[in-house]
Amino acid sequence: MQGLMQDYPLTLVSMFERAEKLFANKPLMTAAPKGVQRTTYGTWAERTRRLGGVLDRLGVSADGRVGTFAWNSARHLELYFAGPCTGRVLHTLNIRLFAEQLTYIVNHAEDEVIFVDRSLIPVLWPLIGEMPTVRHVVMMDDDAGDVEIPDDARISDYEALLAEADPVPFRVTDENLAASMCYTSGTTGNPKGVVYSHRSMYLHSMGAMLTDALAICESDVILPVVPMFHANAWGLCQAAVFAGSSLVMPGRDLTPGAIAELIVGQKVTVAAGVPTIWMGVLPVIEGRDTSALRTIVCGGSAVPRALSESYREKVGRPLLQAWGMTETSPLASVAQLLSTVKGRPEEELADIRATQGIPVPGVDARIVDPGTGDQLPWDGKTSGELQVAGPWIARTYYNDDRAGDSFAPDGWLRTGDVATISPEGYIHLVDRTKDLVKSGGEWISSVELENEIMAHPKVAEAAVIAIPHDRWVERPLACVVLKPGEELTKEEVLAWLEPRVAKWWLPDDVVFIDEVPKTSVGKFSKKDLRERFSGYQLP
Ligand code: ADP
Repeated sequence: MQGLMQDYPLTLVSMFERAEKLFANKPLMTAAPKGVQRTTYGTWAERTRRLGGVLDRLGVSADGRVGTFAWNSARHLELYFAGPCTGRVLHTLNIRLFAEQLTYIVNHAEDEVIFVDRSLIPVLWPLIGEMPTVRHVVMMDDDAGDVEIPDDARISDYEALLAEADPVPFRVTDENLAASMCYTSGTTGNPKGVVYSHRSMYLHSMGAMLTDALAICESDVILPVVPMFHANAWGLCQAAVFAGSSLVMPGRDLTPGAIAELIVGQKVTVAAGVPTIWMGVLPVIEGRDTSALRTIVCGGSAVPRALSESYREKVGRPLLQAWGMTETSPLASVAQLLSTVKGRPEEELADIRATQGIPVPGVDARIVDPGTGDQLPWDGKTSGELQVAGPWIARTYYNDDRAGDSFAPDGWLRTGDVATISPEGYIHLVDRTKDLVKSGGEWISSVELENEIMAHPKVAEAAVIAIPHDRWVERPLACVVLKPGEELTKEEVLAWLEPRVAKWWLPDDVVFIDEVPKTSVGKFSKKDLRERFSGYQLP
């Protein structure tokens, strides 16, 4: 017997129309050099419909790829909906990718048009000759008047095009159509394309709105520091539109001072960014009025327990850790405290908040022995490869013959992360498969060592990498960045670690460096560190 409910398509069009109808007066802010620019969902919706008209005028094909090369802004949010709601596919380009990777993904996705912030023209334009499918470049002036616009017929001005265009009706009836795509940041080899459908985005947005996930709601004022080109700004922008939350777009100034100013000045309730962002912001936000702030979402790489605790002590709320990947839309688990753990001592709660959390309703997780494929117990001790499945998890990559390696025979996504799961369901990431230190047939978690070292009051950042070793195969090397003006010796770092980790985990050496190299999305780049220390002789 079949259910008798409506087969109503889950599309970005209905999310868009909800905001258009219900929240026309709600504000949408974008930080710009001349101050915060304010618009409303009403104006945004009207412009987004006209932007649909612009895409028609430019002759973008029915399912053509619409590239964006831009900071977080209200204009970028217009593109987020105008593309998909007219059947096209939004392709957010990571502005910090290396030139080769950028041209690779534009060509692989066959972008027809790229919308670029004026401030970023000097990065994109020199590559345009190697992007044969790109017929138009549309410039969005983000108050970067000093940047020259090349004299070329392919370049047009966003506002001029919009002024001439007519609004178009939005119609998408097939929820399984592609809505947008995003490439993984490609830590090994070329990036791989993930293609989100209308349905997956709709369900993911609802996931973000769940109380046990991020609880995004109408009264929120959301500051996505995480870029709109990094896994959809974690879905916050779409969820905001659906829920009717106000958005504060940070534009291109992501300095700690600017972020703190927005949080305080705009009475932000939800702010989200990678740990390196929150490491920088803490000293400048401490002591200021953050009473509106209800949650600081942090993810993308492991959230150091000490950082989260410092926020709890100094800002009044800990960081809310979330885990996910480009392939998981990205929200897959959130470290909310379940009723079964609430009331435990603060120290234990801090440990739980330092896990990657429990799967968001809608996401299934398991840990698997990578050799046998057998499922492993949720005892909080046994570790294995983390695999996930669900309606907003990728089932393959776009036109990529490497896809087979990333999915289990039954279709679950192999995340490449190694984790334990506690009996309550808290996922604890031990490491990424390729970052584990394999010492004498046992694994050492680089993440855990880093967290312990970063808990030292004189340490700003720490990254641990594996160095080849004759006897043990690999041994850990700790690369440590000290806080300004601090001094510390190798012996002091090891003495700090000794009571905190197993003896055989102690790094064989500690080096002090100026900065841990970062990837295009601000994570520690172990790959660059490994290159820097290739051939390093351990004592
Ligand atoms: P890339 O794989 O190129 O880094 P993603 O942004 O998709 O691009 O990164 C996903 C990976 O980031 C995850 O597989 C995981 O290793 C790491 N990650 C994300 N969130 C967390 C977290 N809260 N704790 C630890 N690692 C995380």
